[in-house]
Amino acid sequence: MAESKTAHSPLVTYFSMISLLTLCPPFVILLWYTMVHSDGSILKTLDYLRQHGMKGFVEIWPRPTATAWKIIAAYAAFEAILQLLLPGKIVRGPISPAGNQPVYKANGMAAYAVTLITYLCLWWFGIFNPLVVYDHLGEIFSALIFGSLVFCIFLYIKGHLVPSSTDSGSCGNIIIDFYWGMELYPRIGKHFDIKVFTNCRFGMMSWAVLAVTYCIKQYEENGTVTDSMLVNTILMLVYVTKFFWWEAGYWNTMDIAHDRAGFYICWGCLVWVPSIYTSPGMYLVNHPVNLGTQLALSILVAGILCIYINYDCDRQRQEFRRTNGKCQVWGKAPSKIVASHTTTSGETKTSLLLTSGWWGLSRHFHYVPEILGAFFWTVPALFNHFLPYFYVIFLTILLFDRAKRDDDRCRSKYGKYWKLYCEKVPNRIIPGVY
Ligand code: NDP
Repeated sequence: MAESKTAHSPLVTYFSMISLLTLCPPFVILLWYTMVHSDGSILKTLDYLRQHGMKGFVEIWPRPTATAWKIIAAYAAFEAILQLLLPGKIVRGPISPAGNQPVYKANGMAAYAVTLITYLCLWWFGIFNPLVVYDHLGEIFSALIFGSLVFCIFLYIKGHLVPSSTDSGSCGNIIIDFYWGMELYPRIGKHFDIKVFTNCRFGMMSWAVLAVTYCIKQYEENGTVTDSMLVNTILMLVYVTKFFWWEAGYWNTMDIAHDRAGFYICWGCLVWVPSIYTSPGMYLVNHPVNLGTQLALSILVAGILCIYINYDCDRQRQEFRRTNGKCQVWGKAPSKIVASHTTTSGETKTSLLLTSGWWGLSRHFHYVPEILGAFFWTVPALFNHFLPYFYVIFLTILLFDRAKRDDDRCRSKYGKYWKLYCEKVPNRIIPGVY
């Protein structure tokens, strides 16, 4: 059974699944409606709902149109082709719980560059105007909500009938299987990795594409782009660029190496990332705030610093693992714990746990700059409305929960060695506080 399945009790799983299934889709639509049609004001939307009730809500829910489906299909096909065809170094993922080692083609940065250049060229040469995407955003989110649900059902059936590797299987409960997923590394054929597609090439890529779309929308509407929009777009693009620069490292993280391909991770990447993660930019389209050069630059520099530190934490851990601890961490030999563990096939393996550098400050220090970075690309919206801050608050809850899940998983994987790490580095996220 995947570690992720045991991280929460069945009761928590049922509760979180039912909440996600019933609350997230309407939330995505209400967030889009509030940002685009309700001036970013939750009170205005609530007022509308109070007056018009359920019927009013059904009326604002856009139906997935042919244009929306065409945009999604063209984008998904383009990304799938880039994933398959662009050249890239062959890299190996971490050894899986069943002892497999997946092989990937690291062409994410090339796919990212080709996607953004193509999108900008399509706009510049008048072939396709990103305004079409913005003007059909509600329909696109609506189509993604339903399309991704069908996709998750496909993943569930594939996991049962034709799993791609031995890192798969049922826990005997259909709901948990659907929610947490059946397969760790599902593939179509030998080379098309489904999680790389959903998480990286569709989800994360859509973040950059939509950030650019919002910027273009503001430019086309007003003939200019405000400094707040520029800071927001640049920071989100720096973050996504960092992601693709380090994509092969991402394949070593929990999302890929531990969480199976199910509703939780795939629906999240296909729907939640394009809609919620991009929402501060969505808000700024209709709220052209002028910050002034000094404030704009200060926010930009603070945001870039946070993204850099977050990157450096991930880099430090991966460099440490890649070199088997034979590297320098903050100019010194790293301090470490040699932790042994047993795979599901019964083999004993060892892993190194870094206990100095960023990883000596707290066990998940990298979440601090991650949250602060998100704050800095949201704060250009200033404080007139709460909604642009939803993503930062959601991210904080997500990462605190994730730190707990990861600690639980590592405790059961490494036993006494993890206990030793906790003694050496007692704080989970915030040094000296938590
Ligand atoms: P990590 O990359 O931190 O991976 C955690 C794993 O690292 C553990 O399961 C363990 O795996 C290993 N590990 C833990 N402690 C140590 C140590 N001291 N030394 C060496 N290895 C260790 O987790 P995430 O996937 O959560 O984060 C990756 C990046 O993604 C971060 O930058 C994070 O901020 C970002 N992120 C962003 C999110 C968003 O929505 N914006 C959501 C989640 C993450 P093993 O079994 O190999 O020992």
